[in-house]
Amino acid sequence: MSSHPSLPSRATQADPGGAPVSALPGVGPSLVETLARLGLERWQDLWFHLPLRYEDRTQITPIRELRVGESAQVLAVVDAVERSFRYRPQLRVALSDDSQATLVVRFFHFSNTQAAQFEPGTRFVCYGEVRHGAQGLEMVHPTYRRLAGDAAVITDDRLTPIYPTTEGLGQKRLSSVIARALERLPGDDVLELVPEYLRAPLHLCSLREALLTAHRPPAGASVRELLAGRHPAQQRLAFEELLAQHLSLKRLRARVRHHRAPALDGDGALRAALIARLPFVLTRAQRRVIAEIADDLAKPAAMLRLVQGDVGSGKTIVAALAALIAIEAGYQVALVAPTELLAEQHYHHFCAWFTPLGIEPIWLAGKLTGRKREAALAAMAAGAPLVIGTHALLQEDVVFVRLGLAIIDEQHRFGVHQRLMLSEKGRVGDQVPHQLVLTATPIPRTLAMTAYADLDVSAIDELPPGRTPVQTVAVSNARRGEVIQRIRSACAEGRQAYWVCTLIEESEQLQAQAAQVIFAELQTELRDLCVGFVHGRMKPADKQTAMDAFKTHQTHVLVATTVIEVGVDVPNASVMIIENAERLGLAQLHQLRGRVGRGSAVSSCVLLYQAPLSPLARARLQVMRETTDGFRIAEKDLELRGPGELLGTRQTGQMALRMADLVRDAHWLPTVQRIGAALLHDHPVLAERLVKRWIGGAARYADV
Ligand code: ADP
Ligand code: MG
Repeated sequence: MSSHPSLPSRATQADPGGAPVSALPGVGPSLVETLARLGLERWQDLWFHLPLRYEDRTQITPIRELRVGESAQVLAVVDAVERSFRYRPQLRVALSDDSQATLVVRFFHFSNTQAAQFEPGTRFVCYGEVRHGAQGLEMVHPTYRRLAGDAAVITDDRLTPIYPTTEGLGQKRLSSVIARALERLPGDDVLELVPEYLRAPLHLCSLREALLTAHRPPAGASVRELLAGRHPAQQRLAFEELLAQHLSLKRLRARVRHHRAPALDGDGALRAALIARLPFVLTRAQRRVIAEIADDLAKPAAMLRLVQGDVGSGKTIVAALAALIAIEAGYQVALVAPTELLAEQHYHHFCAWFTPLGIEPIWLAGKLTGRKREAALAAMAAGAPLVIGTHALLQEDVVFVRLGLAIIDEQHRFGVHQRLMLSEKGRVGDQVPHQLVLTATPIPRTLAMTAYADLDVSAIDELPPGRTPVQTVAVSNARRGEVIQRIRSACAEGRQAYWVCTLIEESEQLQAQAAQVIFAELQTELRDLCVGFVHGRMKPADKQTAMDAFKTHQTHVLVATTVIEVGVDVPNASVMIIENAERLGLAQLHQLRGRVGRGSAVSSCVLLYQAPLSPLARARLQVMRETTDGFRIAEKDLELRGPGELLGTRQTGQMALRMADLVRDAHWLPTVQRIGAALLHDHPVLAERLVKRWIGGAARYADV
């Protein structure tokens, strides 16, 4: 890697990129403040503040060819105008064009002058998003302009960039500031940070050209390519952005890796004792992953390992064995789960496994207060070997004396920050605890490479033997009666069923209320069966009672809110009914379905939906029927939803990409890894500048 040609001289032109925005003409203190809210402080922040999308006003679309959900520009004549004040003031304008089709345009905020413009017979050019309205297609608050007499329509000759912005800063003003910054854009000899010898084989267009094109697409540029993000200029920027993301995560990883940790190599006695008592044999995948973990733990450098395994692949026992390695070596272990229900379930499993070994797990959740909490804290401070709980473990007054290993279950609900927080908690001098992260949401490989570049990954890619794939059907709510009948016959055969109620509202209270209604309905419909009920707002003890009753087969059907989404394990349950399945994302559906198919009986999952289905919902239900493979589902999910949602809200901010799209631009990732490695090795200073350029302002999350 040392035979590369030397770099061109960078002294030819000074880099003005670091100049403050206030040095631009017309940018006063109040605008500086507004721009700062967007993380725009230096000229280069403006150069790299790329359009979110473009509006295409280069052509006129006949109304007949409009498509719902797309934005378009139409040229039409006013047929009728109507003002109403029923619930709120409203202006409705019916327009038609040469294609003999009509479009309704609606305004909720308008002045009298505006309303008066829409005289029947006058011509307007309107641009907006097309929606389904009560009377056919409509646009709400389009931008519009009136055409005088029979003046010819002038369409734009280029796309209009739309920038991410903030309150009090309109597109026009922001565009003009960016334009002023772009006038000061230096040449490529200053702009390019990836050295020529690495760049040349990729045949990229120049960075200067890429930036100018992205901000101000020239008249001749392919509109289709630009709208799709596939223009060479956009691809050039996407590549560089992915490279910067990758480098920043690598840097974070290097920093954590740099931390020292206690070398944990116990004698294996506790592990052997637990394995001897298990009612099953570990799968090959489980044994391999445990060996990988043991290898890491034995080293005096901090482990940061992600264990991926599909729902039901048996991650809990892997976590338990990892915990024993640390305990054998005389260190403490903390196990953190995202929900209280899941933490409780772990607590019960670990008690059953560890108590016979002479280890009493400590319980610590947010709801634990008073003396019990004090007792738990005191036990931890006295060096109790294992503590299990929710994120309450991350609170300030929680102190460990010898934390050797932190295990975090269901990683996608925690962010990088929380991971680091737990690691800081256990810091003693220059030593931090090892970290093991378990996730049941398989992360597509492409995403793992960027979002989780700070972690090593182990995969439990094999399910315990004897599992049969869950059969999945989608059934309209109109056929609810048949579904209830299906439950009746399954329970008659000694099986058990979950009925999961979902609501789009985030409120647990509303969820609980809706579930209560269904609970009452099923109690009436299934008189001869025992129906149980569990929801998030119950007292932990009541929750546990309901779960225990289901586990011990006293209840046949368990009505539940999505509290049972993660981790709940009752092997005899073989029917899963998911209410309002059309509202849920693939990851959540997969999690819920994973609650069944854990025993030897053939399991089934009914996705109950309310017609009509949106195209997206239809696509999701189709995926669920086609496959039970978590990795395929995750890839599909990424395709359908995009990475932000897949990683959960906490991750969204971190992965907010400006230009790149992890699905569309996944083809860059191998190149990004290769160039990233070369850059870090040969030009660490340039790598650093590249990260600073792209990951600026609010997104400087990696600088913790
Ligand atoms: P998840 O990976 O979803 O967390 P769990 O750890 O809850 O899965 O395991 C699911 C079920 O499989 C549990 O009932 C567990 O006891 C059982 N199990 C785990 N490993 C094996 C194995 N090697 N053979 C048989 N059953 C296993
Ligand atoms: Mg689990």
